Amino acid sequence: MEPLQMQALQDQLALAQQQLTLAQQQLATAQQQLTLAQQQLATAQQQFILAQQQFTLVQQQLTEAPVQLPAATAPPHDQELLDCWEWDSETGDPIVPPAPVLLAGQGWARYIPQYSFECDGRYFFPTTPLFNEFVDGMHNNEVAEFTVNYQLNVEDGSGRQQNNGRRKSRQSLVCMILKADLKKISVVDDGIGLTITKNNNPLLPWDPPGGANQEFPLRVTINKTPRPVEDIILDINRNARFMITGPGTFSCRESHCVVTSPLLTRSASVQWGTQQHQVCHQQKRYTCRMNDLVYLCHCNACLQLPIPAWTTYIGESYVIVGKNVHARWHNHLLYLTNFGNRNLYTIGSALLDDAVAVILGPPPTPDVHDLLRDIAVHFTCIHADTDRRYTILQQGFGKNAAQRRAAENQWIIQCGNGVYDEQTGFGNLNL
Ligand SMILES: [Zn+2]
Ligand SMILES: [Zn+2]
Repeated sequence: MEPLQMQALQDQLALAQQQLTLAQQQLATAQQQLTLAQQQLATAQQQFILAQQQFTLVQQQLTEAPVQLPAATAPPHDQELLDCWEWDSETGDPIVPPAPVLLAGQGWARYIPQYSFECDGRYFFPTTPLFNEFVDGMHNNEVAEFTVNYQLNVEDGSGRQQNNGRRKSRQSLVCMILKADLKKISVVDDGIGLTITKNNNPLLPWDPPGGANQEFPLRVTINKTPRPVEDIILDINRNARFMITGPGTFSCRESHCVVTSPLLTRSASVQWGTQQHQVCHQQKRYTCRMNDLVYLCHCNACLQLPIPAWTTYIGESYVIVGKNVHARWHNHLLYLTNFGNRNLYTIGSALLDDAVAVILGPPPTPDVHDLLRDIAVHFTCIHADTDRRYTILQQGFGKNAAQRRAAENQWIIQCGNGVYDEQTGFGNLNL
């Protein structure tokens, strides 16, 4: 072999040895990395198994335990609240009865609703001496019986009081008393004045609809003509003996309220679902005269079904001049709540009825427009408008719309927790 060739081969050998050493080092490093990665894999696998176990556990807890709702809407009522018969007409708070009667002949102070004091347009009776005399007599804690004289509002000088002559004063007074829905009094008219006698007789519950002593509208005119004073006085004395006492949502008893009245829950506790916890306990007394509030509408027909079904909707009503919840609730039958669908489907149209029939009929068709989740559809296509039941839940937010909406969201959680079953169309209808 040539020396030159020998040198070249030796050089190649040295290079190959260097490469071998390098490759051996790389192999060692890779082996270390592999071991590390294998350890990491083992750890990750352990973590995965642990997480899987936890997931299964949580899943079991979710399916086994009922959904935890926020704290109950209120503690159970005490009898004093259930017996309370005077309530603040603006806030819905109970009127605390006068201090315990220590001396005989005391404890006669009576509440007069705030709306009785309001003047409106040509109605100025609450500014007159006769009105003030009546209010003083009612507020007086030591007076059980008093007489007001219609002559109080008649004066010789000019001025608007003269327009309120004796005959008109008499009419104005009895109309005001009837509309104030005052209890535990009786009144007697002798043509000259009105004698008011307060009593402490227990109030009787109204008869169910159709009964002899069923609740009636506090009507002071018929076809815009004033009713005879004698008839109004009969109504005052009859109305003063009956009442469902306690908190809840009750009728304003205006003569136009015949549609809304039967839909009010009129109870201290409102069971809106079939389960025991699906209930709202009321602490205040509200009427449909009020505005600026959050309300619950639940379906009475759903509760009568042989399957455990319930339907709730939480809504809000706020100050629009001249409007209150009567108008808001009537709208539930006029339009779809969903604005987009309102343009596609009109309440009462065959198109909507057909769509709902297709969704409900076999085989199940997906409710792509969430029609069944619209309160208007529920109470026009699935159940009847008379199945609506309204409960005012909270009131008095003023101009604080954010607070009202926050309360609305809280009540949605309380009354159904946003749960909705797409297969059946039952549950909470708030989208
Ligand atoms: Zn009403
Ligand atoms: Zn229903």
